[in-house]
Amino acid sequence: MNAHPMNRCITIALSGNPNSGKTTIFNNITGTRQKVGNWPGVTVEKKEGLIHRFGFDLKIIDLPGTYSLTPFSIEEIVARDYVLEARPDVVIDIIDASNLERSLYLATQLRELGRSKVMFALNMSDVARARGFKIDGAKLSELLDVPVVSTIGNKNEGVERLLEKAVELALSDKPPEFRRKVRYSQDIETAIASLDRLLQACMSPALDYDTRWTAIKLLENDPIVRKRLLEQAEEHAEQIATETDQLRQVLSQRFNDEPEIVMTDERYGFIAGIMKEVFTISSRQRVDISRNIDLVLTNRFTGFPIFLFFIWAMFQLTFTLGAYPMEWIEAGVTLLSTGVERLLPPSLLREMLVDGILAGVGSVIVFLPNILILFFCIALFEDTGYMARSAFLMDKIMHLIGLHGKSFIPMLMGFGCNVPAIMAARTLESEKDRILTILITPFMSCSARLPVYIVLAGAFFDAHAGTLIFVIYLLGIATAILMGRLFRSTLLRGADAPFVMELPPYRVPMLKSLMIHMWERSKMFLKKMTGVILVGSVLVWALSAFPRTVTYSRNYAEAMEQVRVEYAQRLAADDDARAALTAERDARLQELRWSRQSEAAERSLMGRLGKLVAPVFAPLGIDWRGGVALLTGFAAKEIVVSTMAVLYAVEDGESGDALGRALVSSGMTPLAALSMMVFVLLYVPCLATIATIRRETASLKWTAFSVFYMTGVAWLLAFVVFQGGRLLGFQ
Ligand code: GDP
Ligand code: MG
Repeated sequence: MNAHPMNRCITIALSGNPNSGKTTIFNNITGTRQKVGNWPGVTVEKKEGLIHRFGFDLKIIDLPGTYSLTPFSIEEIVARDYVLEARPDVVIDIIDASNLERSLYLATQLRELGRSKVMFALNMSDVARARGFKIDGAKLSELLDVPVVSTIGNKNEGVERLLEKAVELALSDKPPEFRRKVRYSQDIETAIASLDRLLQACMSPALDYDTRWTAIKLLENDPIVRKRLLEQAEEHAEQIATETDQLRQVLSQRFNDEPEIVMTDERYGFIAGIMKEVFTISSRQRVDISRNIDLVLTNRFTGFPIFLFFIWAMFQLTFTLGAYPMEWIEAGVTLLSTGVERLLPPSLLREMLVDGILAGVGSVIVFLPNILILFFCIALFEDTGYMARSAFLMDKIMHLIGLHGKSFIPMLMGFGCNVPAIMAARTLESEKDRILTILITPFMSCSARLPVYIVLAGAFFDAHAGTLIFVIYLLGIATAILMGRLFRSTLLRGADAPFVMELPPYRVPMLKSLMIHMWERSKMFLKKMTGVILVGSVLVWALSAFPRTVTYSRNYAEAMEQVRVEYAQRLAADDDARAALTAERDARLQELRWSRQSEAAERSLMGRLGKLVAPVFAPLGIDWRGGVALLTGFAAKEIVVSTMAVLYAVEDGESGDALGRALVSSGMTPLAALSMMVFVLLYVPCLATIATIRRETASLKWTAFSVFYMTGVAWLLAFVVFQGGRLLGFQ
């Protein structure tokens, strides 16, 4: 803006409804350069600030907050008198955009006053947007002949522009005149016109109020204006008074109501017209659509089956779609292993790289696609607004355990990772509700447990793997609910706090935001790869590779040599059966190789540890290797898979598939696999979860309790599954 040649002072008054943000904007503009006092003669606070901007001295006045300019309260009188008598160059009406209709009442009155130049700040525009209100500022500006600037006072957004516009308006030659005025009904307009004419003829120069406005005020029987006018009008006073009273009487009879009431109504009519032009609620429609969708999705009968279907579909998708990229990653890991083996000479380092790191981390990283898909689905539930519905659906079931549906959101998030899920329980107000939710949330099967299921279900349940995993998840939910019920009636007695379920409108999710959500969470999975899983893998490998004994392996070498010699002779004798004999020989060699490896594992430190824990796991149908794997799983669930990969001596590549085959040939039965899955589902998820429980409950007692009770429940249920299954004749 060019500096005006005259260096004069510009006065800008801020008017607006109470709480529209006047003081906030005033403070933004003036900073510390303000003076606080009282308006003369009254106890209403007067704030004034003087700043130097754009080459001008700007005097900013914070007027008292009012809803209108009728002279009924001190604030209204002070605000109106300031505009009437001091005639600021510009009045900025701070409009609460989230309450536009109410705010426009004062705005129309300010315009009608015809005293100062008026402009609008559409403040609280963030609140308006959040509520789905759309205000066409340009249209509003055009309709009412006032500059309009959108602002967010508490963020100081748009305030600079507002000030700039205000100065621009002050400098413009345009008089404060408005083309589109409030048009009253015919009779009132006639009365206004006749009074207006009279006033124009006889108004004294000392009282230079806008004559139309004065006429309106007289018809409204405004005591202050009437008194002032009659004092100034001298010889015309009587004529004006009688004319006014006459007209008021005519109008009262005509409308059967006081003219001021009729005029107020008509002003609101004018505002309603403006609202129609400039205001739309975008959420109204959304709310209606949402309501219709909710008729089905949260319906008493259809809601629950649909919910189950969505969850089932999520796991199907995770399992089936994830299988493809999984193969590619597997191939990559195998390629890397063979590469390393070819590059490096046989050594402890090579062994650690291939059998430790690549086998361990590789066996887990193949599940990245599954986890990405799972997190994508959870993000989809969240971003569409379905997550809140699931809480609503679960409300009845949650009440069975004395919790409300709100507790289900942390639980559902637990499908992704228990750590943020436990933290999400913070939203619950009652301490007992929170502890209860924290105690049962880890039963929600997190994504880290998924690799274990995929290996076991894939190896033993083949075509039904997806469905079986779904059932495992359901078992987790059921256990959570049962345990919750138990705690509610014993340790954590109390009634559930009343609470209103909020159902936000459904939204079409944005792909970008879905991706961000998915990635934010998957990042943690990748971080674990280079952290706890890497260290765990090396540790597990070291424990299984030491102590190094060679004596027994010589026996195997001899046995294998014998097999080779034997078949060489038989092949020489019977050339016709060559193919069959070769196959037989290779199978026997393979068996010996496996035995050698498993004996090596058994003799290792890991093996000794395994022997120690074996009695604990034997009743669950889990052998010592499985037991050790579960033990290492306390650090992180993914390590269960990598430990098994090491202990079951997966030969070619480290793929989940190969591990599955190794498990089958180790003599594990489907029932034992199921028992292991149940155990993995229910026992302590990982160190990070334990740390989070400790942090969120701020109690060592509850932390220790949760560790022991979860492990106990896991053991008991796995026991029931395995022994019960055997009794029923399953294998
Ligand atoms: P006044 O009564 O008109 O002086 O209003 P205040 O300036 O005291 O503001 C009332 C409240 O609204 C304060 O808590 C401000 O922080 C807040 N506020 C002001 N402007 C905005 C805005 O644009 N958006 C939001 N969300 N809050 C605002
Ligand atoms: Mg204020």
